[in-house]
Amino acid sequence: MTIVTDAKNGKITEEMKIVAEVEGKEPEFIRRGIAAGKIVIPMTPYRDIKICGMGEGLKTKVNASIGASSDIVDVDMEVKKAQAAEAAGADTLMELGTGGDFLGIRKAVCDAISLPVGSVPLYQAFISAAKRDGSIVHMTEDDLWSATEEQAKLGTNFMAIHTGVNNIVLDRLKAHGRYGGLCSRGGAFMSTWMLHNEKENPLYEDFDYLCEILKEHEVTLSTGNGMRAGAIADATDRAQVQELIINSECAQKAHDEYDLQVIVEGPGHVPLDQVETNVKLMKAMSGGKPFYMLGPLVSDIGAGRDHIVTAIGASASAAAGCDFLCYVTPAEHLALPNIEDVVEGVKTSKIAAHVGDTVKYPETRELDLAMGRARAKLDWEAQYKVALDPELARSVRDSRAPGDDDACTMCGDFCALKIVNASYDLCK
Ligand code: SF4
Repeated sequence: MTIVTDAKNGKITEEMKIVAEVEGKEPEFIRRGIAAGKIVIPMTPYRDIKICGMGEGLKTKVNASIGASSDIVDVDMEVKKAQAAEAAGADTLMELGTGGDFLGIRKAVCDAISLPVGSVPLYQAFISAAKRDGSIVHMTEDDLWSATEEQAKLGTNFMAIHTGVNNIVLDRLKAHGRYGGLCSRGGAFMSTWMLHNEKENPLYEDFDYLCEILKEHEVTLSTGNGMRAGAIADATDRAQVQELIINSECAQKAHDEYDLQVIVEGPGHVPLDQVETNVKLMKAMSGGKPFYMLGPLVSDIGAGRDHIVTAIGASASAAAGCDFLCYVTPAEHLALPNIEDVVEGVKTSKIAAHVGDTVKYPETRELDLAMGRARAKLDWEAQYKVALDPELARSVRDSRAPGDDDACTMCGDFCALKIVNASYDLCK
């Protein structure tokens, strides 16, 4: 029995009521969305979390990803990053560590925050095999299943699982080639293992068994995007679209036959003119499943400011119907993010999510209208109240304090608003 079973049976659960209240919807709207596979509320029986819904009709959500690497393992730092992401407004957190004690770090992170947590269990399976037997190609099917179960029992709410990297997809990849190679760690691990062992992906071949494990622990399946492009020249190529077809089939089976909640992941590096196409294609092929966009980065040359490159693509994807954005930090492609990078990534993605929502849900423009009115009246406190980052807005103004308290140092004595306000009342 899962929340999807409840929804299909017409039952409105407490979680559905919470999401309905937060989103300003009727509980029946949420129930219908979950029954149809168009809304998810990532659950876990093992941890009390902040309930969060994502999908059709709900505001765009933001995920922050953290995790130690083989070069930098600092459990306290990962916990602080997770807490900073929550404080900055992230809706979910993915713990994607590939270094240190997998379960110990994830437990510490899960215990420190109330956000729904996601993971990629195959990292643990492949890296444990490499430590044990000298190479990722020695990973066994049992490694995959045990990592999935262990992580589920820690209170993982959703898992990115690379079900779609199958032999058909690899044939497409080999036949067509790539300018930017494979940028997905999960895609790279699984492809290498399949090619070396000349075997089908167990996550695809034994998909029913995977669904049984996820159902037992009520984990939401996020179909991994192992073929996402790492260069905009490779975007929307045959391997990526082939993987999407396979993932859409898996998503349908998981929801229809196992009552699992399912999210479908999307790319990646995508030029701006292909972002909307990717969202519409994903939604059409998956039957309207919640769409989780990893970025997208709309240019490859913004290193150091890739959070901004991503915000441009994320705004366009959210406006086109994407439901869930994975942030990118300024450290993307360069280094493991630090706490400041995490905060900057979350806050930048929150802007992108709001921009998308102003298109998807015009009523959210009320916030922009409130800011417009506050600016016209030079009401600074009202401006801070509605700003997405009030502390930043206040600190910038205070750092260059004006001679005239009403205006700011941009125009000083010649503040356009003040000049007009002195003679006319133009405010609606
Ligand atoms: S001084 Fe210029 S920038 Fe500042 S509030 Fe007035 S019009 Fe706006």
